[in-house]
Amino acid sequence: MENRYFNPKVELLNKEELKDLQLKRLKAVLNKVYRRVPHYRKKFEEAGVKPRNLKTLEDIKAFPFTTKEDLFVDYPFGLLAEPLEKIVRLHTSSGTTGKPKALFFSKRDIWAQAELIARALVMTGASSRDILQNSMTYGLFTGALVMHYGAELLGMLVIPAGPGNTERQIELMQTFGTTCLHMTPSYALYVASVIQSKGLSPKRDLQLKRVYLGAEPYSEETRQKIEEMLGVDVFNCYGLSEMGGPGVGFECPAKNGLHIWEDAFLVEIVNPETGEWVKEGEVGELVLTSLNRTAMPLIRYRTRDLTRFITEPCPCGRTHVKIARILGRTDDMFIIKGVNIFPQQIEAVLMSIKGVAQNYQIILEGYDEMTVRVEIDREFFDGRLERLLALKNEITEKLRQAIMVRPKVELVEPGTLPVSEGKAKRVIDKRTL
Ligand code: ADP
Ligand code: ZN
Repeated sequence: MENRYFNPKVELLNKEELKDLQLKRLKAVLNKVYRRVPHYRKKFEEAGVKPRNLKTLEDIKAFPFTTKEDLFVDYPFGLLAEPLEKIVRLHTSSGTTGKPKALFFSKRDIWAQAELIARALVMTGASSRDILQNSMTYGLFTGALVMHYGAELLGMLVIPAGPGNTERQIELMQTFGTTCLHMTPSYALYVASVIQSKGLSPKRDLQLKRVYLGAEPYSEETRQKIEEMLGVDVFNCYGLSEMGGPGVGFECPAKNGLHIWEDAFLVEIVNPETGEWVKEGEVGELVLTSLNRTAMPLIRYRTRDLTRFITEPCPCGRTHVKIARILGRTDDMFIIKGVNIFPQQIEAVLMSIKGVAQNYQIILEGYDEMTVRVEIDREFFDGRLERLLALKNEITEKLRQAIMVRPKVELVEPGTLPVSEGKAKRVIDKRTL
C-alpha cells in the first residue's frame, strides 16, 4: 500500500478523536463564513445562532441549511469566503434548468480534494503503477478534472480520454494497457457491450483491474453486470460539485457502502420534509458541511441525494462513516398511480434478468402510464416469438413485484436507444409536455 496516501492517524482514528477533529474544524469554518460571507451572517442571524453557540457537533442542528437556492443569491460570487485573487478555478454543475451553479476553488481546495481522491484510490488497492483512463467529461463539470488531479497526485499515469468515441476508448485501453477506468455507469454498460461485440476477451486482450463508476445513481445489479462483463472490480465513487466534486464518498474493498472522509466533511442524514435527523439506519437526505474548503465552504448543504448510514464497523478498519449507495435524488423520483418510484429500482430489476442487454428508458405519458423500453440480447430476435414473449412477461412481472405497478414493457434490439456518454437521461416525462 502506498504509505504516503494511507495515513492510519487519520483513517483509523478512533471515533472520539475523529469527533474532536471535526469539532475543531467545524468551529473554524462557522466562524469564517460568519465573518466573511454576508449571506451566511444574515442566515445565522435570522436563525438566532452564532458560531460560538456551537459547543458540540450536535449543536449544528440549530444552524440553517444551505440549499441550491442559496447558491443563486448574489450570484455568482456571493458565497465566496476568500478574495478573488485567492480563487484559481471555476466549476459548474450541469444546471439543467436555468443558470448553472457556480463553484469556486482556491489552490488549497484543489489539492485538498486531490488528496482525498488519492487516499480513496489507495483504499481500493490502486497505486502509482496503475494507468487510469479517465472517460468522464472534461470541462466545466468536476467529474473528470478533479479525479484527474487526484490520480496524478497519487502518481498514476492518467489518460485524459474524456467520454465517447468508444472504438478509440478500446484502442487506448489496448495500446497503453489501461488498468483503471473512470466513467459513468451508463456509459460503462455500453463500453462493455462494445468490447463484447468485438469478440475481445477482457482477461486476454485487456489489462483492466478496477473501474470507478459515479456521477449518477445506479444499482448493485448494474455493478455486478459490469464486473462480470469486464472481469474487474467496480468501485462506487460519489461526489458533487458543491463539495469539491468526486472523492466525497468512495467504496473500500468491502464494497458495502461508501466511506466519507470525516476529516473533510461533516455528514448528516435528515428527513427531507422536516429537516430533523433520521434515526440511525433510516433513509433520508444527505446533508454535508465542508470542513476544510477555503474558497466557498458550504454549511449543512442539502444534497437532495437519498441514502442511509451503514452502522456496522467496516472490515477494512477505517473508522470514517459509511453511507449506502445513493438510492436516488429527491428530484428523480416520480409518482405513478400513487406509488413513489426511483429509476434505480427499475434498473435493479432489469439488470438481474438474463437476456436484458445494457440500455433502457422509462417513458411517462398520458394519465399515469409508464412504459419501460428495454434493449435485449440480439439472439432473441431470431423469429422465435414464444421465447420473446416469455422474456417480456418475465420482465413485466418482476417489475410489477418490485414497484407494485404494472408497466408496459417494450423490447427493442441493442443499439436502438440513445447512448449517453455523460450522465444518462433515463426518464422521459411526457406528462408535463
Ligand atoms: P448536477 O448533476 O446536479 O448538475 P454534479 O455534476 O455536481 O451536479 O453531480 C452531483 C450529483 O450526481 C450528486 O448530487 C448525485 O445526485 C449524483 N451522483 C454523483 N455520484 C454518484 C454516485 N456514485 N451514485 C449516485 N449518484 C451520484
Ligand atoms: Zn471500509
